[in-house]
Amino acid sequence: MSTLYLALNAGSSSLKFAIFREEADAKLGAVLRGRIEGMPANARFTAKDGLGTPIFEKQWTDGELLDHEATVRYLLKWIDERTAGQRLAACGHRVVHGGAVHTKPVVISDRLLIELERLIPLAPLHQPHNLALIRVVTALRPDLLQVACFDTAFHQTQPRIAQLFALPRDISERGVYRYGFHGLSYEYIASILSELDPRAAMGRTVVAHLGNGASLCAMQACKSVATTMGLSPLDGLPMGTRCGTLDPAVVFYLMRELNMGAEEVEELLYNKSGLLGVSGRSSDMRALRRHAASDPNAAEAIALFTYRMVREIGALVSVLGGIDAVVFTAGIGENDRMLRADVLRELSWLGFQLDQRANEAAVSRLTYGTGPQAWMIATDEELMIAQHSRTAIA
Ligand code: ADP
Repeated sequence: MSTLYLALNAGSSSLKFAIFREEADAKLGAVLRGRIEGMPANARFTAKDGLGTPIFEKQWTDGELLDHEATVRYLLKWIDERTAGQRLAACGHRVVHGGAVHTKPVVISDRLLIELERLIPLAPLHQPHNLALIRVVTALRPDLLQVACFDTAFHQTQPRIAQLFALPRDISERGVYRYGFHGLSYEYIASILSELDPRAAMGRTVVAHLGNGASLCAMQACKSVATTMGLSPLDGLPMGTRCGTLDPAVVFYLMRELNMGAEEVEELLYNKSGLLGVSGRSSDMRALRRHAASDPNAAEAIALFTYRMVREIGALVSVLGGIDAVVFTAGIGENDRMLRADVLRELSWLGFQLDQRANEAAVSRLTYGTGPQAWMIATDEELMIAQHSRTAIA
């Protein structure tokens, strides 16, 4: 009987999942992958087989609300129907915040859930979704082992100085540090970098995870030494709807001059800013590209995203003392050729030589010559979750 692992990767309005099977060589091979997005009101389910061939699609009709519980119930039944006769050994979750204590994936217990609940103030818009999902799986499958894999864990190798805010010590000691996120994605890139670029794997790399959330990670020998996100996933690069780094005085201005309360400011900075706020049109890079020629606001949103990336990469290169490789990953990084080309042109002073044809063809290596290399690598957070789940339950 084959052994399966389920990886759940929950965002605020989408849920990605994958099922992996233990192969004869002890590797984990994907057998199903999919996502449910648009919850609760316009839910859409799409799935592919292990080779990436679409196998299933379902759109919930108007008026049907798909909450967390209904989503997971549907998903588990759908998986059961396709994996009959095989054993599901564990369900791994991406959990956004592990705080200072959780540096490794752990098997979920009632006690752990209470500890993770205490971290909600550090990630108020993400952690509750993750914990709700775990609770729903527990209710539906009480006997299934579940594992929490923390987005913050990969960044525990950052030196203390990279984690400190310049705040009074008693505030830092409450846990107000720069933690960093997207750790499972960075960990995956680190795990395969040596196959592609051994020099970078032993040296200095900046990885750009550019999805709806976006961040950069500076790695020295595949270990995180600095990252653009901080206490929360709001810091650093501008994102689909998040502002990224902001002069904190803007918050006082919003509160005093525009009479906004803390929750309104939070909503503005998390959900109405970034590409959406600047363009006034969309948080989706594809939509902005389509309208950039005729809509100067869409063009400016892309220009700001590109500018801030170049600026932040420069800062990380200084921290690393040079650069051997840049890696682009996640939705925008894997698909937006124009952004990759614009960033690499701006970085030509560091020795990057863009191979335009490779970039257009979206092959992995985007540069030529003997200087620093640029790579496009499709990330696989779900594989990391499944691998960690297997290790944790062993
Ligand atoms: P997340 O997992 O954070 O929800 P993704 O990694 O799926 O996000 O990335 C979503 C982003 O990727 C969106 O801004 C989307 O527009 C962008 N994207 C996807 N495909 C393309 C493409 N072909 N060109 C430009 N951007 C793209």
